[in-house]
Amino acid sequence: MVFGLFKSRRRERLRAQPFPDEWRRTIERNVPIVRRLPSADQAELFGHVQVFLAEKHFEGAGGLELTDEIRVTIAAQACLLLLHRETDYYPLLTSIIVYPSTYVVPGEHHIGDGIWEEGDEAHLGHTQQNLSALVLAWDSSLHGARAIDDGENVVLHEFAHQLDFEGGGVDGTPPLGSRRQYASWARVLGAEYVALRRASETGAPSVLDEYGAENPAEFFAVATEAFFERPAELRERHPALYAELREFYHQDPAAWSGNSPA
Ligand SMILES: [Zn+2]
Repeated sequence: MVFGLFKSRRRERLRAQPFPDEWRRTIERNVPIVRRLPSADQAELFGHVQVFLAEKHFEGAGGLELTDEIRVTIAAQACLLLLHRETDYYPLLTSIIVYPSTYVVPGEHHIGDGIWEEGDEAHLGHTQQNLSALVLAWDSSLHGARAIDDGENVVLHEFAHQLDFEGGGVDGTPPLGSRRQYASWARVLGAEYVALRRASETGAPSVLDEYGAENPAEFFAVATEAFFERPAELRERHPALYAELREFYHQDPAAWSGNSPA
């Protein structure tokens, strides 16, 4: 209780600190989606970035020399998912490990339905429940941030997994506000997941990346990418899914400037 109060005061102080100009320029250059946010949301985001950078430990791997540019570019994207709600800033996450580029993970890999595959696998990003770390490739993280409309963003994807873990499982259900919301989330995302599986089997195009057909956890991460990066299309073609995500994220990206419907 005392610690909780101490923590929230410390965070308040961090949010109130002046935001460094250099960081602002980095975000303008590397995370252009932030320019589309209403200005009050931008201010809230900058506050979250201050807390995030003070609390999370960043580590360079594979010879990567960490810079403020790398930290700020990743933090700004991660914090986009935290706007407009009570947040404990990814409480299960301690460290963000950044590789210069796609990195290879040796060993066994779960490829779904209890099937494991031997061999090396190339990754752009990775996180796991009970690992307290999140791994990213810097080049993909930067490209994903700068390419604002392609529906692919590895940072949003991996941090969406963290929100999912906060729900207690790895099932594509982050903590929700009410019983009603859990029921409609299960109904809507369940049906959309089945539809994406079907589309991926037949090769039918979708706003949602095919990777979301892997399992419900990947579906939520992929849907999050589309929600922020292809919001108008998602709202038009998957209105119920868009509405669930809008309620969860307390944001309406299709209404942001520069995101008007096609
Ligand atoms: Zn994933």
